[in-house]
Amino acid sequence: MENKVFCQSCSMPLDKPEMMGTEKDGSKSKEYCTYCYQNGAFINPTMTLNEMKTLVKEQMEKRKIDAGIINMAVSSLPNLKRWRAKTVSL
Ligand SMILES: [Zn+2]
Repeated sequence: MENKVFCQSCSMPLDKPEMMGTEKDGSKSKEYCTYCYQNGAFINPTMTLNEMKTLVKEQMEKRKIDAGIINMAVSSLPNLKRWRAKTVSL
């Protein structure tokens, strides 16, 4: 568990290479998943934290994940790199 890497945008675990996003040079991103980040840029760069919270909740509900776990994932989103950066760059 300790070494598990999560997407710094949507908190999805990056435990398989195909889950990782790609940088401009084609290398794998160590911070973002393929659904958030490709070719060195966010797929949806104007997305807000609230939109991401809704999306993560919907995706997890579809997979019938326990409500407690969903709440934990959603409440951890503001601590991820993508959203932390937003709040400091005023
Ligand atoms: Zn992601």
